[in-house]
Amino acid sequence: MQFDTDSSTPDDVVARAAELRDEINRANRLYYVEDAPELDDAEWDGRMQELLALEAAHPEIQSPDSPTQRVGAPPSAGFDEVVHPIPMLSLGNVFDEDGFRAWYKRALDFLELESAPMVCELKIDGLALAITYRNGVMERAATRGDGERGEDVTANVRTIRSVPLKLEGNANDIPPVMELRGEVFLPNSKFATLNEEREEAGLPAYVNPRNSASGSLRQLDSTETAKRPLDMFFYALGYIEGAQEPSSHSEALEAIKGWGGRTNEWTRKANTVEEVMAAIANAGEVRDSLDYGIDGVVIKIDSLSLQRRLGFVGRDPRWAIAYKFPAEQAETTLKAIHVNVGRTGALTPWAELDPVVVGGVTVGRATLHNKDEIARKDFREGDRVVIQRAGDVIPQVVEVSAKNKRSDDSQPYAFPDNCPSCETPTVQTEDEAVTRCVNTTCPAQFERLLEHFASRVAMDIEGLGERVSQDLPRLGFVSSIADIYRLHERKDDLLELDKMGETRVDNLLKGIEASRSQPLPKLLFALGITGIGSESAEWLSRRFRSLSGVKDATEEELLAIDGIGPVVATTLVDYFAIEQNRQLIDDLIELGVNPIDDTPEPSADHPANGVTFVVTGRLETMSRSEAQNRIKSLGGKATGSVTGKTNFLVAGAEAGSKLDKANRLNVHVINETEFIAFMEESVVPSRPESPDSADA
Ligand SMILES: [Zn+2]
Repeated sequence: MQFDTDSSTPDDVVARAAELRDEINRANRLYYVEDAPELDDAEWDGRMQELLALEAAHPEIQSPDSPTQRVGAPPSAGFDEVVHPIPMLSLGNVFDEDGFRAWYKRALDFLELESAPMVCELKIDGLALAITYRNGVMERAATRGDGERGEDVTANVRTIRSVPLKLEGNANDIPPVMELRGEVFLPNSKFATLNEEREEAGLPAYVNPRNSASGSLRQLDSTETAKRPLDMFFYALGYIEGAQEPSSHSEALEAIKGWGGRTNEWTRKANTVEEVMAAIANAGEVRDSLDYGIDGVVIKIDSLSLQRRLGFVGRDPRWAIAYKFPAEQAETTLKAIHVNVGRTGALTPWAELDPVVVGGVTVGRATLHNKDEIARKDFREGDRVVIQRAGDVIPQVVEVSAKNKRSDDSQPYAFPDNCPSCETPTVQTEDEAVTRCVNTTCPAQFERLLEHFASRVAMDIEGLGERVSQDLPRLGFVSSIADIYRLHERKDDLLELDKMGETRVDNLLKGIEASRSQPLPKLLFALGITGIGSESAEWLSRRFRSLSGVKDATEEELLAIDGIGPVVATTLVDYFAIEQNRQLIDDLIELGVNPIDDTPEPSADHPANGVTFVVTGRLETMSRSEAQNRIKSLGGKATGSVTGKTNFLVAGAEAGSKLDKANRLNVHVINETEFIAFMEESVVPSRPESPDSADA
C-alpha cells in the first residue's frame, strides 16, 4: 500500500500507520457490520490513540481514508446518549379479535364510556426515532434505545431525504419546540440492490431490511448512511413546548403532514371493534403489495385527553395496542442442501424444500446463509424445518422444527471442503463467514460472471440469461467473456443448443452485437471486478477514458480518484496484474469492444471548475456528501483534508480541527450561504481583507 508521503517519512512509520489503519478498519467492520467485536474497547482505543499520535507527528501520512478522519468517536462511545423527555414506549400485543375486544373493553371500562374513536396505523417493521425540531429546524434525532435513553444519530438522520430538515408552513403554526416520532425503514425494493452491492464489495449480506436499516442508521460515518436509501414515516407527536397541543392524534398527524413530514397514507379511523377488524383484514390483504415490511396494525384511542386519562399500566400505554400478524412461517421437509458458487467464488448453501405455501407464496427453496449457520443450527437433510418469509425477502430456514424426528442414520451436514464446480479446496478466512473457491478459472464462477456481464445493469445482452450462461461454456469454445464476441462465427454450433431455435440464436447474436455500443462505465462494471460497483466504474471511466487506460492505471493514480480507497485500488492493480485479465482486455479491444469515454469535462465555464474544496461541520440545507457531489458535478475537487492546495474550506456548524488548520494555512473559509451562491449563481466568494496581508 502506498501513501502520499514525502521521502523523509521513515519507512517504519508508514508501515505501522498502515497496519494500525487496517486493524482499526477491520475491528470497526466486525463491530458495526457483523456485530462480532474482535478488539475490546481498550485495545481499540490504544490503536486509535497510537495512530492519532503518528499522524500528528507526521502530518504527511494523513489520508482521507484513515479511520481517524471518520466522523465520530470510538465504537463504544460512537454516539452520544440522549435521554428522552417523554419515554418512547413499547406497546402491548394482541393476536386475535378476542384479545383486541378485551383490550378495548378495559379501556372503555376505565373511562366509563360506551365507545371511543380510534385510529388504526400500519405497524412498520423498522426503527423508532424521535426527532426534535426547534423553531421548525431539525435539531436532534435519537433512536428509541431502551425507551428511556437512546443514541444521538442526528448526522445520519440528516441524510434521509424524507426527513425534513426544516418544517414547512407558517412559522406561527409550528410549535417553537417539539418532537416528532416515526419509523425509519429500508424499502424492500432497495434491500436486494443493497445486498448485491455488499456482495460486490465482499461484505456479508444483511439478513432482512430491518437489520439493514439499523446497520445503516448506526454507521459512524454519515456519508456511508447517505448512500443507503432509508425512508421514514412519522406517526406521532412527542412533546411540545410553547404551543397548544392538538386535541386528537389524527389532528396531530394532519399537522405533521402539513409541516412536510411524511405520514403513512393507509392510516384510518375506526369507531367500533368491527371497523378495526375490517381495517386489520385490509392491512393483511395489502401487506404483500407494500414496499416495506409490516408486522401488524397499531390501534390508538384518538383523543389526546382520553389518552392522558388512560395513562399507563407498567410500561405499556392503556390507550394503544399492537395487533400482531401471525408470523409468516411454515413447516416443511428439508429435502436436500445444495451449494451455489457465486461470481466472486462465495459458496452459498440453500435448502431444497418440499414446496409449501408461506404468506400466500409457494416456496420450494430457501437460503441457509452460510456454513457456520448450518453447523450452529444443525440443519440436516431430511429434517422437518421452520421456514419464514418476510415481504420480498428471500425465504429463509429458521430452525429445526420441535416436531422433527431424526432416524438413527441421520448425519450432521458436511459442508463441502472442495468447490462443487471445480473441486478446488475452498478457503474460509478468519474474518469472514463466507467460504470461497479461489480458483480464477472455476467454471461456476465463469457462468455467474457471464450472467452478470450480460445483465441489464451491465452490458444488457438480451437472450443471454441464466440458462444460456450455463450452456455456452459447455460448448467448449466459450471460456472467456471475449469469446462471446466471436460467437457469430459459430451459429451452427449454437443451433445445437437445447431449446435454441433460429430466432433465439439470431436474437442472442443481435444482442451481443448491440452491446458493443454500451458505454465504458457499463463495460467496466460488467467485468465483475470485486469492489467495482456502477458508481466506481463511472469514476474510473471519467478518469482513464478507455479500457487500456484503466488496465495500466497505477495505484497512485487510482488513489487520487475521489471515492477510490486503498482496498479498491489494490484490488484493481492486483486484478490487472493477472495475465489472463490483461489478455481479456486486449482481446476485447481487438474484437472492437472498446468504448471510449468522451464525456466533456463538466461545465468548464463554472468558476468552481478545477477548484479544490474541503467541506466540514454540519450544513443546514444539505449533507456533506450532497455538497461534495455538487462540487464534483461542476468540475471541482472535494477532498478530505485541508492542505496548502485547498482553495476553499466550506465550514458548517461545529467545524473542528479542519477549520483550525485552514486558518493556520490561511485557506479561504466560506460559510454555507456563500457556498450555495458559489455553486448555484457562480458568485465567487470574495476574501475579506486579511490583517496579515495588509501588513505585508
Ligand atoms: Zn470452483
